[in-house]
Amino acid sequence: MHCPDCQSQQIVKNGKITLQDGACVQKYLCKSCRKQFNDRTGMPMARLRTPSAIVTLAMNVRTEGMGVRGTGRSFGKSHSTIIRA
Ligand SMILES: [Zn+2]
Repeated sequence: MHCPDCQSQQIVKNGKITLQDGACVQKYLCKSCRKQFNDRTGMPMARLRTPSAIVTLAMNVRTEGMGVRGTGRSFGKSHSTIIRA
Protein backbone atom coordinates (compact mmCIF):
# COMPACT_ATOMS: atom_id res chain seq x y z
CA MET A 1 0.00 0.00 0.00
CA HIS A 2 1.46 3.35 -0.97
CA CYS A 3 0.31 6.85 -1.78
CA PRO A 4 -0.85 7.10 -5.42
CA ASP A 5 0.43 10.64 -5.51
CA CYS A 6 3.88 10.65 -3.91
CA GLN A 7 4.42 6.85 -3.59
CA SER A 8 5.12 7.22 0.13
CA GLN A 9 4.30 4.26 2.35
CA GLN A 10 3.46 6.51 5.29
CA ILE A 11 -0.25 5.75 5.02
CA VAL A 12 -2.79 5.82 7.83
CA LYS A 13 -6.42 4.71 7.75
CA ASN A 14 -8.78 7.66 7.78
CA GLY A 15 -12.30 6.36 8.22
CA LYS A 16 -14.67 4.74 5.77
CA ILE A 17 -17.25 5.98 3.34
CA THR A 18 -20.27 4.20 1.89
CA LEU A 19 -20.88 4.82 -1.77
CA GLN A 20 -24.24 5.16 -3.50
CA ASP A 21 -24.05 1.55 -4.58
CA GLY A 22 -23.66 0.45 -0.96
CA ALA A 23 -20.01 -0.49 -1.23
CA CYS A 24 -17.87 0.39 1.75
CA VAL A 25 -14.57 2.01 0.86
CA GLN A 26 -11.63 2.42 3.20
CA LYS A 27 -10.19 5.91 3.17
CA TYR A 28 -6.53 6.66 3.76
CA LEU A 29 -4.43 9.69 4.56
CA CYS A 30 -0.88 10.11 3.34
CA LYS A 31 1.29 11.46 6.13
CA SER A 32 3.91 12.61 3.66
CA CYS A 33 1.87 14.83 1.34
CA ARG A 34 -1.34 15.01 3.44
CA LYS A 35 -3.49 13.88 0.53
CA GLN A 36 -6.51 11.69 1.09
CA PHE A 37 -7.39 8.78 -1.10
CA ASN A 38 -9.29 5.52 -0.91
CA ASP A 39 -9.29 1.92 -2.06
CA ARG A 40 -10.57 2.90 -5.47
CA THR A 41 -8.38 5.89 -6.11
CA GLY A 42 -6.28 5.34 -9.17
CA MET A 43 -8.15 2.24 -10.26
CA PRO A 44 -9.20 2.36 -13.91
CA MET A 45 -12.79 1.41 -13.15
CA ALA A 46 -13.26 3.71 -10.15
CA ARG A 47 -15.46 6.16 -11.99
CA LEU A 48 -17.99 3.53 -12.94
CA ARG A 49 -19.11 3.28 -9.29
CA THR A 50 -19.67 -0.43 -9.68
CA PRO A 51 -19.79 -2.64 -6.60
CA SER A 52 -16.29 -3.58 -5.60
CA ALA A 53 -17.08 -7.26 -6.15
CA ILE A 54 -17.62 -6.58 -9.82
CA VAL A 55 -14.51 -4.45 -10.02
CA THR A 56 -12.51 -7.25 -8.49
CA LEU A 57 -14.06 -9.80 -10.80
CA ALA A 58 -13.40 -7.61 -13.81
CA MET A 59 -9.77 -7.32 -12.80
CA ASN A 60 -9.51 -11.06 -12.44
CA VAL A 61 -11.07 -11.64 -15.83
CA ARG A 62 -8.71 -9.20 -17.43
CA THR A 63 -5.65 -10.73 -15.83
CA GLU A 64 -6.78 -14.10 -17.12
CA GLY A 65 -6.14 -12.88 -20.62
CA MET A 66 -9.50 -11.71 -21.89
CA GLY A 67 -9.55 -8.44 -23.78
CA VAL A 68 -11.63 -5.47 -22.76
CA ARG A 69 -14.37 -6.44 -25.19
CA GLY A 70 -14.54 -9.95 -23.83
CA THR A 71 -14.78 -8.59 -20.30
CA GLY A 72 -17.70 -6.37 -21.21
CA ARG A 73 -19.52 -9.21 -22.91
CA SER A 74 -19.25 -11.55 -19.95
CA PHE A 75 -20.56 -8.80 -17.69
CA GLY A 76 -23.53 -8.19 -19.93
CA LYS A 77 -24.56 -11.77 -19.29
CA SER A 78 -23.80 -12.13 -15.61
CA HIS A 79 -24.29 -8.63 -14.23
CA SER A 80 -27.54 -9.29 -12.34
CA THR A 81 -26.28 -12.61 -11.05
CA ILE A 82 -23.25 -10.96 -9.52
CA ILE A 83 -25.37 -8.27 -7.87
CA ARG A 84 -27.55 -10.86 -6.18
CA ALA A 85 -24.55 -12.83 -4.95
ZN1 LIG B 1 1.48 11.08 -0.58
